[in-house]
Amino acid sequence: MTAINFAVIGYGGMGSYHIHNIMPNENERIHVVGTYDISGERQKISSQHKHKIYHSLEEVLTDETIEAVLIATPNDSHKDLAIQALKVGKHVVCEKPVTMNVEELDEVLKVAKETGQTFMVHQNRRWDPDFLITRELYKKQQIGELFQIESRVQGANGIPGDWRHELKHGGGMLLDWGVHLLDQLLFLVDSRIEKVSADLSYILGDEVDDGFITYIIFENGIRAIIEVGTTNYTKLPRWYLKGTQGTAVIQDWDLSGEMIVDSGKKNIQAPKPIQAGVGLTKTMAPPSEEATETVALPKVTAEYDTFYKNFYKVVREQAEPVVKNEEVRQVMVLIEEIFKAAKR
Ligand code: NAD
Repeated sequence: MTAINFAVIGYGGMGSYHIHNIMPNENERIHVVGTYDISGERQKISSQHKHKIYHSLEEVLTDETIEAVLIATPNDSHKDLAIQALKVGKHVVCEKPVTMNVEELDEVLKVAKETGQTFMVHQNRRWDPDFLITRELYKKQQIGELFQIESRVQGANGIPGDWRHELKHGGGMLLDWGVHLLDQLLFLVDSRIEKVSADLSYILGDEVDDGFITYIIFENGIRAIIEVGTTNYTKLPRWYLKGTQGTAVIQDWDLSGEMIVDSGKKNIQAPKPIQAGVGLTKTMAPPSEEATETVALPKVTAEYDTFYKNFYKVVREQAEPVVKNEEVRQVMVLIEEIFKAAKR
């Protein structure tokens, strides 16, 4: 087994996370040779970790020992960096969002095709345990057939960092967190999209969205509400899933939550009306005790090393990629549709 020699372009938050937290799990297959960052300060920090420091992109691209690059720079630089690397025969792992739009992505994919080099996007949240639970519920129909999916991430700290506030760098939460939640959604639901409505929020007064909400209707009838917020001092559950035989809640990344499912018992008592505020309701009363059961969420195993393990196999053995470029493209198409729907 010969490890793939990598240079990391962009040694910021995510570039260093790859090097220190993800790539070491795969050190038989992935070997980090060095880093290139335009910031002298980041170069200095990288050199403290004994990485080779590249002082220009050209130095990376002309280093024949480098087989692949990881692009972990602000979003607007992904396209040009990817194209230049592919053209000199390097394989590319690119951070999300792959590019600023579909047109840019198509340019990259054209070069990847022409050069025959591997181009793979790090859609890592396909291996998030909360998503794996949702996928398990969907596939095994543990709450019946899913017909409504609500997927949310909500924080109280506004848009982080610097470039994420700027349109020219591809800032904003739809491109930042939206791309993860939409990738999960399209990876989950195997159906074409019929209708999209959306609204972006600008509560913080930035030129880019600090959050959004979109309502998506699939041809197979599934409805999805996807929401990202950065001005939420308290939050709604990470996942709220409605099925024909139950409802599941996954509260957070700590995987707390439960499923309330139809008990299947016959001849149960009708729910009793309850006092609700100053009125009475049977419609909004909880189901009678025998009608439902509370069940623990399924256990899942998250294999965090899947991405680079697969990347190695794609490069060395022409295996099928776990993140396919056509899937990534579909997500970018949807993001463009959400921007348009919000404008409408
Ligand atoms: P960051 O600002 O922390 O780091 C970016 C680094 O790139 C900085 O050190 C900067 O100096 C450097 N840089 C900028 N332009 C460069 C260029 N042309 N060449 C070389 N270096 C350059 O940003 P970040 O949070 O690390 O985000 C980087 C990328 O990673 C973004 O595309 C972001 O969306 C993605 N990201 C992905 C995840 C994930 O979970 N997959 C999480 C965070 C960030």
